[in-house]
Amino acid sequence: MKFPFYAILFLATFFSDAVFSQQKTATADQQKKNAFVAALMKKMTLEEKIGQLNLPSSGDFTTGTATNSGIAQKIEKGEVGGLFNIKSVEKIRAVQQLAIEKSRLKIPMIFGMDVIHGYETVFPIPLGLSCSWDLPAIERSAQIAASEASADGICWTFSPMVDISRDPRWGRVSEGSGEDPYLGSQIARAMVRGYQGKDYTQSNRIMACVKHYALYGAVEAGREYNTVDMSHLRMYNDYFPPYKAAVDAGAGSVMASFNEVDGIPATGNKWLLTNVLRNQWGFKGFVVTDYTGINEMTAHGMGDLQQVSALALRAGVDMDMVGEGFLSTLKKSLAQGKVTQQEIDQACRRILEAKYDLGLFADPYRFCNLKRAQTEIYTEANRKIARETATKSFVLLKNENHILPLKKTGTIALIGPLADSKENMTGTWSVAADATKYKSLLTALKEAAGSKAKILYAKGSNLDADSAFEARATMFGKSLHRDPRPSEEILKEALKTAEKADVIVVAGGEAAEMSGESSSRSNIKVPQIQQDLMQALLKTGKPVVLVLFTGRPLDLTWENKNVPAILNVWFGGSEAGDAISDVLFGAINPSGKLTATFPQNVGQIPLAYNHKNTGRPLAEGEWFQKFRSNYLDVSNDPLYPFGFGLSYTSFTYEKPVLDKAQMHKKDELHVSVKVTNTGNFDGEEVVQMYIQDLVGSITRPVKELKAFQKIFLKQGESRNVQFTINNNDLKFYNSELKFDSETGGFKVYTGTNSRDVKEASFSLLP
Ligand code: BGC
Repeated sequence: MKFPFYAILFLATFFSDAVFSQQKTATADQQKKNAFVAALMKKMTLEEKIGQLNLPSSGDFTTGTATNSGIAQKIEKGEVGGLFNIKSVEKIRAVQQLAIEKSRLKIPMIFGMDVIHGYETVFPIPLGLSCSWDLPAIERSAQIAASEASADGICWTFSPMVDISRDPRWGRVSEGSGEDPYLGSQIARAMVRGYQGKDYTQSNRIMACVKHYALYGAVEAGREYNTVDMSHLRMYNDYFPPYKAAVDAGAGSVMASFNEVDGIPATGNKWLLTNVLRNQWGFKGFVVTDYTGINEMTAHGMGDLQQVSALALRAGVDMDMVGEGFLSTLKKSLAQGKVTQQEIDQACRRILEAKYDLGLFADPYRFCNLKRAQTEIYTEANRKIARETATKSFVLLKNENHILPLKKTGTIALIGPLADSKENMTGTWSVAADATKYKSLLTALKEAAGSKAKILYAKGSNLDADSAFEARATMFGKSLHRDPRPSEEILKEALKTAEKADVIVVAGGEAAEMSGESSSRSNIKVPQIQQDLMQALLKTGKPVVLVLFTGRPLDLTWENKNVPAILNVWFGGSEAGDAISDVLFGAINPSGKLTATFPQNVGQIPLAYNHKNTGRPLAEGEWFQKFRSNYLDVSNDPLYPFGFGLSYTSFTYEKPVLDKAQMHKKDELHVSVKVTNTGNFDGEEVVQMYIQDLVGSITRPVKELKAFQKIFLKQGESRNVQFTINNNDLKFYNSELKFDSETGGFKVYTGTNSRDVKEASFSLLP
């Protein structure tokens, strides 16, 4: 392997005195980086600088053909800054070698991938993961994802996705952490820490990219890529916090979103990408567009490719994903005075700095260790953690007569379109997954039952009666292998199977690709054919448990009314089969809590616990009052509120006790709540604390999550859970967008979810 001249320079001047040494002051390191990057940039031509801003997708790349492809030629010409979604250390090494051995300045490339919820060891989809409310577990999942991805050549992930969403019609709710800015921010920080560590001194850490900045979760009507229009108050108070939290945690990069913000697409929005992100929040990393985000501004009506490329650069975009708008137009725009040399230099510098931070100049092959690829991916240890983590993400929605956990005796019929699919266990955005290695629920349940219980299987129904819909909902290798027989025949077979069983477990709901990108739904029910199946199975009079696969909150009104037990398992990842078996058989007591409200019907959307009061709120406990804010045909209540989730045991809460009735802004207030495990199992509980600011200079939400603790209580055990409230917890952005608290009355609510709470009051004094 030939080392480029600058690497030798680098090694000689910097590495010897330990570039990564902790003792060095940040400023000294910064100066070295600046000097290094400045020296390199002096050598670069305009074309080479613009080349750094170009991020193609791997497209036609496979080893062997690499040297012949169009991208390869561009790499040799110094026209490519990085590449993404190329899998395997050998391929990445070969591509890096092209840059290092064939390009003039031998600048290493950065390799990205959508490592969204794990690499080959796949963790639950992010929405599921968030339902664990377990920050250390979430951080660990990102850490494992980073270690596996980096062992396979990847040094940059397009994660965390932190878009707040209150609209489950939008398929990408599956990729985020739900509806709450506080929890969303905590998770954003945990993920960034997990991926990046303290710095990149270890080669098993990778750069995070917080996305999709901003407000993508608020697309109108839940329709993918749609318009967003939102007040600045709502942006700052509800939608911005998780992005800001990720930036505060040091996320190395930010991805601009597809949607518009204040009438300008995010990709070309200077207020968003420069004023807010850099000037207000102090972001120092680089901004990448989303996939062809620049080109798409033409369809948004912002001009031709040259115009929108210039717009993006001037707004603060540094790297152009896939569209090559920068590559093909910036030179001309510079000549015509539409962009400045300084703007191009600035973007180039930011990308080179990121590569420097990742240690790629010191060793371009830092993430290309073949041995690591063989020994550190999909390991037993990682899989064990993924299995445990998956159990934490499951949410028990209903459990009439303690049907669950199942006894390991007799005969269990496992029926449903999701029962025997490996491919669908990992959910959307599991690009590095290798489904051949995973178990279906059927296999896992059989293994778990061993010789103690008999597991019978029947498909019961296809995903949906409409084969065209099923085709759209099972793309990208996530086929459910549609059964061509008439549905009556498939159902009859299932009923026969059910007849022989003591208990029926239905594995149904959504297929993996029914959520995720470009999977919006206007009807968020379980498909009718599956409800028909459940209805027929319920008629047998045998106990029925629904193991619900879904990537979004669904309208489960029918299931909640008719099916005695519902365990929502989202898409639990590569080890989901074993994890589901662990919970079904009671080896693990479920403790997940919803991070997104489940509505009673689609017409209630958007629906979130932290809404405002209107001037005409409904009286407590009422459904309909004339001339009040309500519906004629459905109550305002959700089906399952934010924070909701049952356990095999039960917890009782006493009223919260405050250590003072008045708190000065400089003080702290202590809240104590006694929680007791009153059921028959040991179990974990997420104890939640909300506040309400009763009077404000702007209207305030009826409740806001401000703290939570996940505790473990043995049967019969009690604990006084303590929370602290300080002035920061009471701050919000006021109409001048100043982040401050206001004196006056507050309520504190504690409980097992956002609805079932007990309260206390205090006043904030100056
Ligand atoms: C998605 C991003 C993703 C990118 C690269 C886009 O379509 O919106 O979330 O990171 O593709 O794969």
